[in-house]
Amino acid sequence: MVMTNQSDHKIHSAHPKFQELCDAHGVEYGSTIHHFRPNGDGTFTPVPWHESSKPMSFAAYTGIKALTDDCHAASTKAGWWTDLHTGENMRGKRNKPEMLMLMVSELAEAMEGLRKDLMDDKIPSRKMEEVELADCIIRICDYAGAHDLDLAGAISDKMAFNAVREDHKIENRVMAGGKKF
Ligand SMILES: [Mg+2]
Repeated sequence: MVMTNQSDHKIHSAHPKFQELCDAHGVEYGSTIHHFRPNGDGTFTPVPWHESSKPMSFAAYTGIKALTDDCHAASTKAGWWTDLHTGENMRGKRNKPEMLMLMVSELAEAMEGLRKDLMDDKIPSRKMEEVELADCIIRICDYAGAHDLDLAGAISDKMAFNAVREDHKIENRVMAGGKKF
């Protein structure tokens, strides 16, 4: 088993090495271990979720993973990952820039709903703003599912990074040149 070259990276469940490390430590995949802390000598110590200082909860992490799977499964079932003329499986082969811009278009629709305080035309009991944000998240999760992106792990890592970054600290944001928004 190769466990070197990981000395400054935490390893999450979607990482190819995570299953290897879980097996090596006799722990259950994704359910008990948040990450593996590098010991600096090529070995790792498993860190349980309840001992992790990361802001993202286990429930949120598993929820995002499940949502990613569900969104991609739904769009696959609806035929969005099949070439309807040839029957070719298009998983991972669609135009990625186009898909990213479709996410942006959902945000633009949310902006329009906010601007005019509109209710959604398809779900009239809901605000257009929240439905279009939901559309955006559905598209993001489908995209991540289709391209095997570790969205849950990335959110966990980024929330942890944001929690300690200097330019997000209140005392630095109020200083001259600090981030105002
Ligand atoms: Mg929409």
